[in-house]
Amino acid sequence: MTTTAIRPVSTRPAAGLSDREKSKKIMKWIRFRDRQLRKKFGFLKHQNEIGAAITLGSALGMILFAGLYLAGIVPAWACVIANAIFASLLHEIEHDLIHNLYYKDDLSKQNFLFWVVWIFRGNTVSPWYRRMIHTLHHKVSGHKEDIEERLIGNGMRFGGKRFLTMMDGNLSFLFQAHRLRKEAPKFKRGEIVRSSWPYLVVFYHLWYGFLFLNGFYFLNDFLGKPISPPDWLDMLRSFLNAAAVVYTIPNWIRQTSIQIVSSNMHYYGDVKGLYDQTQVLNSWLLLPLHLFCFNFGSTHGIHHFVVNQPFYLRQAVAPFVHPAMKRYGIRFNDFGSIFRANRLEKSEGVGVARLAS
Ligand SMILES: [Zn+2]
Ligand SMILES: [Zn+2]
Repeated sequence: MTTTAIRPVSTRPAAGLSDREKSKKIMKWIRFRDRQLRKKFGFLKHQNEIGAAITLGSALGMILFAGLYLAGIVPAWACVIANAIFASLLHEIEHDLIHNLYYKDDLSKQNFLFWVVWIFRGNTVSPWYRRMIHTLHHKVSGHKEDIEERLIGNGMRFGGKRFLTMMDGNLSFLFQAHRLRKEAPKFKRGEIVRSSWPYLVVFYHLWYGFLFLNGFYFLNDFLGKPISPPDWLDMLRSFLNAAAVVYTIPNWIRQTSIQIVSSNMHYYGDVKGLYDQTQVLNSWLLLPLHLFCFNFGSTHGIHHFVVNQPFYLRQAVAPFVHPAMKRYGIRFNDFGSIFRANRLEKSEGVGVARLAS
């Protein structure tokens, strides 16, 4: 069958269907295209091996580019871009692993992949803790209890505080923890602190060390070098700068890109069900962010409707599924959402009142 001839879902006008019925139609469309692709490309059935190959390939890619940079063969910018892209693939793998899409029946292999994706992307909480908050996200998306999205600013008013929340995990914790403690029963400060150990802690030492030390050197130079730094501090700076190029800057770019997109493609506050949870962000304006988060804004909405697809298949079905989503009223590129604190409705007050009732 050619793709243009596909009519898996009813051609009845979408008007008159309930949100639940429209969601079902979208799911049918996704599943239909998924089945078709799996039938056409037999190798897709080796899902475990594909997941392992992408994980190890991306990790080795990061090591390779680190080596090429340290050997002076590639410039810093090339290493930063390449490693941010490799790390973004590892992020997708972590999400697939959370949904048990690889080595479901072989937990030792699954846990090994979890360790790999965590070590190479240190600026995240432990993947086993994230499994809990991400499963919760699917259950309560758009509501006060959604720890995962609220920690990256979803639902906050537009402004400097929201931008800082989207960009820095520690500031986000500072701004949002007291609210989440009251409003999200599953939010436990101690659990998050424990699940940060060891890699998030290591990452933040490397990251803030890099920022503060370079800040000091620039200020010192600017003031005409009133302090002459000892040799050991110069060496520490060289080490932190090298770590920044191969590891911390790529991961900061990756994490910030996905957080800005994710925080704005989920609706918050007046979400009544699955149909309202997400929009599709696929504008070319987002290309610089999408490069580092595997086109997240374009495809994550599909994932809310059908969760058991690996990330590469979700991307593969997207061109066929988007017209159906549009037809059944899913919003596309609703950039105004960020000015409404991610409410569906125009007035933030309406959303808050609905949520409270
Ligand atoms: Zn989501
Ligand atoms: Zn998910």
